[in-house]
Amino acid sequence: MANQLTVEVVTPDGQIINDHFNMVVVHAEQGELGILPGHTPLIAPLIISSARLRTADDSIKVAIGGGFVEVNQDHVTILVQSAESPAKIDVQRARKAKERALRRIKQKRDHVDFRRAELALKRAINRLNMVGEE
Ligand code: ATP
Repeated sequence: MANQLTVEVVTPDGQIINDHFNMVVVHAEQGELGILPGHTPLIAPLIISSARLRTADDSIKVAIGGGFVEVNQDHVTILVQSAESPAKIDVQRARKAKERALRRIKQKRDHVDFRRAELALKRAINRLNMVGEE
């Protein structure tokens, strides 16, 4: 479609979005990345964050659990560990995940456990932020 991006969001469970949008905003390790039609080819790592997909009169947000974005000829592939729209987020689950991660961070058992807990905490906070919760 002219002047639009074809956007696919793919997780280990399969493709959750495959549609046309005017703009994509994602958070790469280097910072926020706004992608419009005609963008140069790119592959960039994405942090635990939100992705915003815009049409002319609407915008959808997706919580993503880190991964990669690839841009090639107006085709944007967001390949991520997890992706949820706000309606799919289970707030209680995210709150429990946050508490669990905070407990593990306090225990400071070993470096691997600590790093895992840090990432789990980031995912939980990201999900809660997405729905305006703490
Ligand atoms: P948990 O400890 O609750 O499983 P997690 O951050 O370790 O959280 P992930 O490994 O990121 O979970 O995701 C595993 C799967 O569960 C993915 O399909 C993800 O979309 C889903 N998921 C995780 N937490 C939530 C949540 N709070 N609401 C909805 N889906 C979730």
